[in-house]
Amino acid sequence: MTASRIYGIDLGTTYSCISYVDEWGKPVVVPNFEGDLTTPSVVHFESADNIVVGKEAKNASKVDPGRVVEFVKRNMGDATFSREIDGKSYRPEEISSYILRKLASDASQTVGDQIKDVVITCPAYFGINEREATKNAGILADLNVVNILNEPTAAAICYGDDKTKGDEVVLVYDLGGGTFDITVIAMEQGDIRVVVTGGNHNLGGKDWDDRLIEYLAEQFMTENAGESNPLDDPYSMQELAKSAEEIKKGLSAKEKYPLMVSHNGKRARVEVTREKLEELTADLLQQTIDLTRHVLEEAKGKGIGKIDQILLVGGLSKMPAVARRMQEEFGIETNLFEPDLSVAKGAALMGQKIMAGEMIREIIANETGTTIEEVDLAEIDQGTIAEAAKKATATAGGKFRLPSKDLADMATRKIINVCSKGFGVVAVDAEDGEKEYVAYLIQNNTPVPVEVTETGFGTLRPNQQQVSVRVMEQAGQTQSPSPEDNRLISEGEIAPLPANLPAGSPIHVTFRLAEDGTLSVTAVEPSSGRDLNLEVKVEGVMSQQEIEASKGMLLKQTVS
Ligand code: ADP
Ligand code: MG
Repeated sequence: MTASRIYGIDLGTTYSCISYVDEWGKPVVVPNFEGDLTTPSVVHFESADNIVVGKEAKNASKVDPGRVVEFVKRNMGDATFSREIDGKSYRPEEISSYILRKLASDASQTVGDQIKDVVITCPAYFGINEREATKNAGILADLNVVNILNEPTAAAICYGDDKTKGDEVVLVYDLGGGTFDITVIAMEQGDIRVVVTGGNHNLGGKDWDDRLIEYLAEQFMTENAGESNPLDDPYSMQELAKSAEEIKKGLSAKEKYPLMVSHNGKRARVEVTREKLEELTADLLQQTIDLTRHVLEEAKGKGIGKIDQILLVGGLSKMPAVARRMQEEFGIETNLFEPDLSVAKGAALMGQKIMAGEMIREIIANETGTTIEEVDLAEIDQGTIAEAAKKATATAGGKFRLPSKDLADMATRKIINVCSKGFGVVAVDAEDGEKEYVAYLIQNNTPVPVEVTETGFGTLRPNQQQVSVRVMEQAGQTQSPSPEDNRLISEGEIAPLPANLPAGSPIHVTFRLAEDGTLSVTAVEPSSGRDLNLEVKVEGVMSQQEIEASKGMLLKQTVS
């Protein structure tokens, strides 16, 4: 296989974007057929076999709200969510696959390249099942997902690529359409190391819009006493939602935004000022400040005392209040850094890094008579890598026109992530014998990959036959020992145990969290050496068979 171009996709809650890196190493965003650099993440089931995605779908939400799906990313990985259309129910990953198909097919025709390999981004706080669902959305769209990359890391990669500066610590503040992500990232000699990450996945532009919608409805009711509430009418409601987003965006540039609110044949003239918008949403912005402060404190605990720069990404960061409040609170320079495009560009740069690695590894594999999978660049000396990079660039054709040193640098550049959640097992309090709690083996914000073995667990009763293992992932914003604050991601049993073990016999449990977020769990009863491998079957996502069946069906529908 010859390494081919890998595209970067920002699959956003409200807007999505696709990018690639050209042969000169520059990330380029590909516009869609409507001519826009970003595409609304809105899906309109126009008919049983024609799906419309983007601006037109967003417009259709006004006239055909029952057949339009928005903000589906908020339900990614949620087993209980599905949307019923024409008697068929669609899972979040299926709906998301249409968005990916629209991006890939528009870009494919514009660039004249078949798009197959992609890096898709997701919020840093996405847990195992949300990541798995994101990956499955890619598979359902007939794409090969080579990596799921955290959005703030992608933004930092893009920022780091643009600068020829020295080492810097940046705080990425990403306030998007439905989610808020905050991350501290250290850039050290081209390497990118995530230090801490936090956020709230239910805080974003939609909440700002909702406040405005309520305000507009109130104003309408004040002017038209006795009239019904526009919020109770789906059509007026859609109209208000559209106006609210326009007002919010408009007020980033203007001080006042006058408009007509109409409902039931009545109208009201409303003028919203920037000041009013800020007043209506002050507590929302305050939540982002509090979360930022929390993350900064955690970073301090990890030895990061000083932040050099705040990168503001995400469409909502364009509101002047964001930069102003950040300045007031933290006194750190803010940089509104390509808020709509930097995540997709960073994903494309990550794709290019992966491609560079493949090109070099392929050459080394050929020369040493091994397979590409067996070549680990971390174990190979610089000289060999430099030689291979020379050969790779010489045969790269139009794919790569930079000096071979750049290819080698890219391939060997380190990107170190942390896990955003803690992982543990349910244990029983030995004193109490009843009370269950979650014992964390991997703490949140631990650099990955990581392997942890806990030797402190033991059997509860004499001659116990089996031990059940329940693997849990932190579900809330902070770790908590109460099982109900955690999500069960897999369970299994160590059985049969050797006969006549006394109570309190040790059971060793090992967690391995890979760079790509996959978790494997093993447990061993040390006296017999009997072990158990728990396949971490992710709950709440589609199974392999379901994906195959669905893919066949979905790919028959046209997406435009
Ligand atoms: P996501 O990645 O979550 O899809 P984005 O980062 O693209 O979101 O941000 C989308 C949000 O930003 C939407 O709520 C949109 O209304 C808002 N937005 C876009 N441009 C502006 C602007 N100029 N001023 C204020 N909000 C904006
Ligand atoms: Mg985003």
